[in-house]
Amino acid sequence: MKKIFAFSAFLSLCAAHLPAADVSADFAGGNAVIAASADGKISIAPDSFGCSRDGSYWNFRVRKASGKLLEISVSGKNAVDACGAFVSEDSGKNWTPLGARSVRRCGDSAKFAYRVSEDAAEVRFASVIPYLYSDFKRFAQSRGIAIRHFCKTERGRENVFVELGNENSAVTAVLTCRHHACESAASFVLEGFLSAVKYAKNIRVTAFPLVDLDGVEEGGQGKFRKPRDHNQDYYGTSRYAATATLKRILDKLNADGKKTVVLDLHSPLFSEMSSISTRANGIYFVFGKNGKKRNLAKGFSLKLAERYNESGGLANNPELDVDFDPFLHDRRPITFAKWAERLENVMWSAAMEIPFAVPSGEMPSTPDQLRNFGKILLEELDAHVGIDWEHQVE
Ligand SMILES: [Zn+2]
Repeated sequence: MKKIFAFSAFLSLCAAHLPAADVSADFAGGNAVIAASADGKISIAPDSFGCSRDGSYWNFRVRKASGKLLEISVSGKNAVDACGAFVSEDSGKNWTPLGARSVRRCGDSAKFAYRVSEDAAEVRFASVIPYLYSDFKRFAQSRGIAIRHFCKTERGRENVFVELGNENSAVTAVLTCRHHACESAASFVLEGFLSAVKYAKNIRVTAFPLVDLDGVEEGGQGKFRKPRDHNQDYYGTSRYAATATLKRILDKLNADGKKTVVLDLHSPLFSEMSSISTRANGIYFVFGKNGKKRNLAKGFSLKLAERYNESGGLANNPELDVDFDPFLHDRRPITFAKWAERLENVMWSAAMEIPFAVPSGEMPSTPDQLRNFGKILLEELDAHVGIDWEHQVE
């Protein structure tokens, strides 16, 4: 995102120390309202352009700061996650978590400090580990996964999807990710899931890795975009090409009589993360309205948690799962998972919320931990649909 707001009087006094041009969010996935930068002190806020509510995604870079101690101040309610922010000294290829203890919170702002390495030409700071189309493309190429045309976005980008597994499988798993552009933790889970599909016996996978591709590339929050965001775009006529195309693809699977499970991957808002013990610091499902289908999804959630607890890695917590709340959801435009649940041949449909922050943990989950979670998710889903599936749904 390109917007740079300078507090002009402040900058004019201090620009000699660290020119504003050297603090920027003008790159793919970048996002920050840069309020001030001077003498190693940088004040930013998440840029919630086009949204009806404040978001907590930000991602900016600093150049010509080799060896300097930078003091970063991020304003906005819970704009820094419970387990802290991330730093990269190689233009966003690798990210290091700074941890919960790095953050000092003061009212609605959070501060942390970082000493830039002597040989770093630039340093990037972000609220999450960013994950763009280039990351997915690199992943798919490394695994020999063919990328297929999904749709042309509103901003002219080529959006993509992938299909993996045996065409004769009993069940198709449809996975979607980034209906909300900033929710990148979910992308690492999807990578792990797709990596393991080759071992699946019972499911074929169709995955849409970056539903709001424009938002991802342009550093948008995505969530609460006006007049409605991608996940709210399943009510009436869809306004985005991605959501309209997804509806057509699922309608076709349904008309062809293909049994399907639908899992829409998300990450919760930081605004729910003010304390380490809140719901947002665990992985949980959000179920739909149909009682029979909801029970199947709940059964899967319980099985999955059992399996993870045996593995000792990241685990979903069924106690945090959210049942359909008619009061909450009937007021909102319908979401993808709830729209898909209405289709006859969709066995169950749910959203899953995956944060970087770890319950009671000082450090966030690593991409590899999230990928491992995705791998076990695939294995358990494959096993689950293989068990007497027809009898479960009658
Ligand atoms: Zn979301």
